[in-house]
Order: sequence, then structure tokens, then C-alpha cells
Amino acid sequence: MSFPLDCLFCSFASGEKSVDLVGQNGSAVAFRDINPQAPLHVLVIPREHYADVATLAGAEPQVLADLVTLAQEVALDQGDGDYRLVFNSGPTAGQSVYHVHGHVLGGKRLGWTPA
Ligand code: 5GP
Ligand code: ZN
Repeated sequence: MSFPLDCLFCSFASGEKSVDLVGQNGSAVAFRDINPQAPLHVLVIPREHYADVATLAGAEPQVLADLVTLAQEVALDQGDGDYRLVFNSGPTAGQSVYHVHGHVLGGKRLGWTPA
């Protein structure tokens, strides 16, 4: 699949822009969020470009499954294995980067309400 030239996360996934990977598999890569909201805050993204999680689920469900597997591996590698996986979808929900990414959050007892 071609990718948008201006997509930051495509550049990370392709290696065009350097980022320290904390995990990867054939479908997805993981790297630390630049603005962490918890002691563990890693982004998991597919290597291919999809705008949001529902688009990915419809087009490539196995890639979404691989993304979730990678999230769990990162949580086990970097923490105690417990984690929250969040996909902000749409601007009102807080999505700011339109290359689907799961936020892997953990490393402390997490609060619940995002409001
Ligand atoms: P969203 O707001 O779309 O759910 O999440 C985008 C996330 O990407 C934010 O948590 C933000 O901190 C992170 N982010 C934005 N730019 C960069 C960057 O250049 N490097 C890294 N590692 N994370 C980034
Ligand atoms: Zn992209």
C-alpha cells in the first residue's frame, strides 16, 4: 500500500524517520509516546497506513490482531503485563494523528474517567 508522504507515523514505521522501537512484529511496530501520560506509554501502530482502528479492522483484521498481540508483549516486556489499550478515534475523542495507533498505558494504578 502507498502511504501519505506527510504521515509522521508512516515515516517511523518505514524507518525514514528514526524512532527507538521497543517492539515489533511483521505487521506492527511499537515506540514510546513523546508526551507520556503514564509511566508506561507506548504507541503500537501498523506498518501500513490506515486512518483509524475501525478502518483497519474492516480492511485487515489480522493486522489488528497482531497490533493487540504486540501491545501485550510490550506491557509484559516493559511492565507487569497489565495495560490499557486506547484507540482515540476522531477529533472529539482526542485523535490527533490519523495513522491508527493504540496507546498502551500502564505502570501504575490507572484512573478511569478521561473527562
Ligand atoms: P492521539 O492524540 O492521536 O490519540 O495520539 C497521538 C500521540 O502521538 C500523542 O500521544 C502524541 O504525544 C504522540 N506523538 C506525536 N508526535 C510524536 C512524535 O514525533 N514522536 C512520538 N514518539 N510520539 C508522538
Ligand atoms: Zn501513515
